[in-house]
Amino acid sequence: MMRLLVLALVLVFSSNSFGSTDDLRSRISRWIFGKSTISPYEKYVRTQAVLHYFGSPDEGNSQAFLNDLSSLQTYENIRAQLKYFDPTGQFTSFADLRANQLIAYKDPNSKKILDFSLPLSIKSRFSPRDIKKYQSLNGLRIAIDPGHMGGNYWDGLTGKFTHDDQEHFLSEGTLALQAALLLEARLKQYGAQVLLTRRTLGPVTNLKFDQIDVGKWAQFKLKDQTLLPWFQNLISKFPVGEGLYNGFQADKSFQKLFSEDMRKDYFVSVSDLGARAQIINEFQPQITLVIHFDTHEPPNDPTALSQVPYDFVKTYVAGAFEPQEFASRKSRRLFVRHMADPEHWRESIKLSRSIVQNLKTTLGIRAESVSAGTTVLIEDGVMTRNLFLTREIYGTALSYVECLYYNDPIEFSLLGAQDHTINIDDKLFSYSNRLVQVVDGLESGILAFVRK
Ligand SMILES: [Zn+2]
Repeated sequence: MMRLLVLALVLVFSSNSFGSTDDLRSRISRWIFGKSTISPYEKYVRTQAVLHYFGSPDEGNSQAFLNDLSSLQTYENIRAQLKYFDPTGQFTSFADLRANQLIAYKDPNSKKILDFSLPLSIKSRFSPRDIKKYQSLNGLRIAIDPGHMGGNYWDGLTGKFTHDDQEHFLSEGTLALQAALLLEARLKQYGAQVLLTRRTLGPVTNLKFDQIDVGKWAQFKLKDQTLLPWFQNLISKFPVGEGLYNGFQADKSFQKLFSEDMRKDYFVSVSDLGARAQIINEFQPQITLVIHFDTHEPPNDPTALSQVPYDFVKTYVAGAFEPQEFASRKSRRLFVRHMADPEHWRESIKLSRSIVQNLKTTLGIRAESVSAGTTVLIEDGVMTRNLFLTREIYGTALSYVECLYYNDPIEFSLLGAQDHTINIDDKLFSYSNRLVQVVDGLESGILAFVRK
């Protein structure tokens, strides 16, 4: 009873003597319940101490990264886009949205330390962009990323292939490269400057698989894990000091991050994808196409044919961040980079729509109309998804295309036909008329987008 009375007095007189209301709440709850609930700010301090102790590299300057987006976006547009970018409502944990500016903080939920601010425009102004000056592809810069890698070695490593029970075999990375090379030749005929991230079956990164420094990539990856339960659990237990660091070193999730098990993941999903994003961003393309083929995986063998007919076209654009994907300052500023650039996001949707419509026609298949897992449907065949490349590539109309389902039994046999050959790595690889139809759809999709 006495404690409650004191509490009431504290509440009355505390408005200046305590810090934020979050601080106040946690102090009071600790005092009343004796629990070691820690404030969001203390969590931030402990997180930073852990990242620093284990050598996680500094995250750089967010403000400089975003300055060119000043006043491009409006408050209303951001509000309208949030459901596609942030379906679980994390945005306000690290940012304040005001009528004339967006302010983001380094310390989620306590919001004491400024990370960056971005002036917003009062009126929507979709100024004419580069791309609208073109009536044709002549002079346009187009980047194409053929997904994954190909050949026995890399297929074995990535698992991106499918097979039937008669030793017929299709490699997604090889199909994607063939489509990219064929598309490049067509686009160049219109005068486009085309960049392919790879022309061989091998990876894009210059690093060698067995030379990857797992410890270095683990330090880099650690910042992306700070909102995961294992990390949150540890920082709730120990104050800054030896106990905290020892706690991490003894933790299984932490040990796994720094273990050999992660070599493949760091090579394929961080180093190689990072190289693709960097090459494309440096090229500054008006149009970017990421070419993939999907699978509808049977439960027992993910590389086997689908047991049911399943074939759709779909595309991804930036958005749909999951809660734990707001962990690092880098991912948060990339989130804002896409959300505060209304024209490129809108262009990405238009490009995707055009590609979906044209692939539907040339392939005679439907657009995927359900958003599975962590995607958010914009319209049939066009979804937001926070993939490495939809996040890390920016300032371009980007469509990440899943052209069709190549382990659908009918597609598998169509794509396996040996109608033509193309030279890759000094060897002839056969490809099908079906793949030519894919290229037809991609080409006409890009043309229709540019001539809109
Ligand atoms: Zn793929």
